[in-house]
Amino acid sequence: MTDCIFCKIAKGESKADVVIRTPDAVAIRDVNPQAPDHVLIIPVKHVDSLNDWTDVELLGALMMLAKEVARKVMIDHGGYRVVLNVGNHGGQTVPHLHLHVLGGRRMKWPPG
Ligand code: AMP
Repeated sequence: MTDCIFCKIAKGESKADVVIRTPDAVAIRDVNPQAPDHVLIIPVKHVDSLNDWTDVELLGALMMLAKEVARKVMIDHGGYRVVLNVGNHGGQTVPHLHLHVLGGRRMKWPPG
């Protein structure tokens, strides 16, 4: 999608603080971090949300990338949270599917 900010970031057309890049996805630092470490996993392929996603293999690859990110930013041993917001009630603000990897502090439960 031409006007999608995450498409532009994933294609390297917009600036971002990249943690890891693969052919299928990019992991970037969130501009408005909600934890000391807050990284977004953004697939290159544009799909609005989990509701429209069908590629099981790629979704699995995104989760594996989340694990790799946690290791790279050194929150794997302390623990971290992986979040996928879906739609309005889910708190999704950017309509391009993405995972959040949050760590560096103890997370609360239940989430707000
Ligand atoms: P969500 O609310 O689940 O859709 O998450 C969107 C996230 O993207 C928010 O945490 C924003 O802070 C973050 N965000 C929006 N624009 C950018 C950007 N250009 N670079 C990095 N993070 C962004």
